Amino acid sequence: MNAHYSRDFWHARAAELLARGIDGRMWIDGRREDAADGQCFDCISPLDGRVLTRVARGQAADIARAVASARAAFVDRRWAGKSPAARKKVLQDFAAAMLAAREELALLETLDMGKPITNSLSADVPGAARCIQWYGEAVDKVYDEIAPTADSALALVTREPAGVVGAIVPWNYPMLMAAWKLGPALAAGNSVVLKPSEKSPLTALRMAELALEAGLPPGVLNVVPGYGHEAGEALALHMDVDVIGFTGSTRTGRRMLEYAGRSNLKRIYNELGGKSANIVFADFDDLDRAAATAAGSMFYNQGESCNAPSRLLLQEDIADAFLEKLLAQVPQYAPGDPLDPQTQLGALVDATQTQTVLGYIASGLAEGAQCLAGGTRVLEHTGGQFVAPTVFDKVHNRMKIAQEEIFGPVLAVLRFRTEEEAIAIANDSTYGLHAGVWTRNLDRAVRVSRALKAGTVHVNQYDEDDITVPFGGVKQSGNGRDKSLHAFDKYTELKTTWMRIAPR
Ligand code: NAD
Repeated sequence: MNAHYSRDFWHARAAELLARGIDGRMWIDGRREDAADGQCFDCISPLDGRVLTRVARGQAADIARAVASARAAFVDRRWAGKSPAARKKVLQDFAAAMLAAREELALLETLDMGKPITNSLSADVPGAARCIQWYGEAVDKVYDEIAPTADSALALVTREPAGVVGAIVPWNYPMLMAAWKLGPALAAGNSVVLKPSEKSPLTALRMAELALEAGLPPGVLNVVPGYGHEAGEALALHMDVDVIGFTGSTRTGRRMLEYAGRSNLKRIYNELGGKSANIVFADFDDLDRAAATAAGSMFYNQGESCNAPSRLLLQEDIADAFLEKLLAQVPQYAPGDPLDPQTQLGALVDATQTQTVLGYIASGLAEGAQCLAGGTRVLEHTGGQFVAPTVFDKVHNRMKIAQEEIFGPVLAVLRFRTEEEAIAIANDSTYGLHAGVWTRNLDRAVRVSRALKAGTVHVNQYDEDDITVPFGGVKQSGNGRDKSLHAFDKYTELKTTWMRIAPR
């Protein structure tokens, strides 16, 4: 990170931002709006418990206004009717505007949800901007098809925007998750109503302003903050929403399917939780790198990542040596001030999440797992939500800490003897998001990768990622895929048009 980005720099910028005031009103039809009934909720920073701003509490009436605005924009084709090149230009300008505002966006993200400023600035903002830019780039390279037919007919297979997309996103990567929906949905010509998490609504609201300034017509993107059971439910139940792109917990994903059934059978794409297994075989020769990656990928974003490798499966012969190397990594993830560029592990999103994580730690201890590091809340005097990176050994896969997604900095270590046993443990989960395999045996790498029930398998690494590849899960980790050209499938409909052009 640039040398002038010191801790003092960010604290001074935060003080300026708070003195100026953060606009927490919703974004409907290209304008800031209060909730129809005027209600707000406090937006509390997990860094120190201070109220950052008051955010409009969207309800069904606000969702109805936003959906009406989105529908009107879709029907008059002010966006869908533009050429792909014109949409590309706006999305590229939107991405550029995000990069130009990167300090402000990074600061908002960190203050709002607690992740280290270094990550917000060098991963979340550029990642979200690249996503928007990439889909803008892609949209004039996706061609429609002409199906093979007899001379008498012509069959066109065209891809049309689905219409009004409801995007409901979580708090762990607020900008990125919004961008993963907005990129393909907007590029394809849809209008969107975005419902950010009540725990981290600030960057989504700011992104909408930047999009308008970049030339996105009013009404094409609306952002309604609010609680899940209010704004979220109203959006998912709305009869005039065509598709829901949802990212969040499996519990809420289940609800999404019910909402669709109770309303207009809108398409639901669920990107849900995970409990990913990271398997290290004894033949892998670079245990230092494997241990550094196991810790780094686990504790990144405070462990609040759907694809965190939260179950570490070690082959017996190397387990003790590996654990020693792993534990040597842990101190660098000591929680610290998220506005300090040196900090690698920030604050959990809120007090509720801290209690959830501490509850899982207590359950691990009660079920007989051995806590080798962490296990406690720290830095309480700051008023912030900090939990020490925690490593449990002697975990059995039937324990709660091995089965349930903790969504905090808690790693469960399990041991196995054979390849078959490793595969069985890894697949013994309701989830199927990511998995890792570390081996120098090529046959084994292929065999195990094939056998793992996961949307993504990492071989001899766990940190490769790019907008070019699909991201999503199997089993109760969801359906659908974000990122890559495949994401267009979620937000477009294939239409077949048959034409008779000569007698049969
Ligand atoms: P959550 O399910 O509680 O909330 C997600 C979103 O849904 C929020 O905007 C929330 O307000 C809304 N919501 C909650 N209840 C609702 C309801 N009854 N009706 C409609 N909307 C409702 O999840 P979270 O705690 O915000 O996020 C963490 C989860 O997200 C984890 O399980 C994580 O694994 C998952 N996640 C998955 C991916 C992925 O790509 N698979 C990526 C990031 C996060």
